[in-house]
Amino acid sequence: MTQPIFMVGARGAGKTTVGSELAKALGYKFVDTDLYLLRTSGLSVADIVDREGWEGFRRRETEALKAVCSPLTVVATGGGAVLAQENRDFMREAGTVIYLRSPASTLANRLEDAPQEDQRPTLTGRPITEEMMQVLNEREALYQEAAHHVVDGTQDPALVVNSVMDALALPVA
Ligand code: ADP
Ligand code: MG
Repeated sequence: MTQPIFMVGARGAGKTTVGSELAKALGYKFVDTDLYLLRTSGLSVADIVDREGWEGFRRRETEALKAVCSPLTVVATGGGAVLAQENRDFMREAGTVIYLRSPASTLANRLEDAPQEDQRPTLTGRPITEEMMQVLNEREALYQEAAHHVVDGTQDPALVVNSVMDALALPVA
């Protein structure tokens, strides 16, 4: 199997952490769509949202997803990449999609512990646990719909990598 592997999930799900470890384990390249946008435009997610709104960011994100898609690559997507049907369809057709699933409380704890790694502007301005509950409420069905495999993301990163490798060996649902 040489198709790209797309990591989806909310902020703090471990898409970057687990995705880069997975790439190492498989001998794949690793790309992060947010970093790709930063490298190609010189703008962070926050900068793009400031200038162009979330709509402008989402448009650039769809372009980035297509641009980074190549064989033998693990792609860490942005938390909201699944919001667009176009992105969900594209990822499912172009590769294997892994949803790293954790409860809102776990996501919130991680984001609070490492706020500097979370360069994304808050979506609602509300307390982080509440925000993550709302985000999961709105997106859980979309993550599930996009994903070929749903993987428990609550364990240590090395164990999550193992779970993803096990899932990749399974026939796709
Ligand atoms: P994402 O890219 O999905 O937003 P990150 O990989 O940047 O998530 O992880 C967010 C924070 O959570 C980082 O500080 C990271 O070290 C931590 N983290 C990620 N996955 C795990 C995990 N499985 N267990 C514990 N901490 C994790
Ligand atoms: Mg990330």
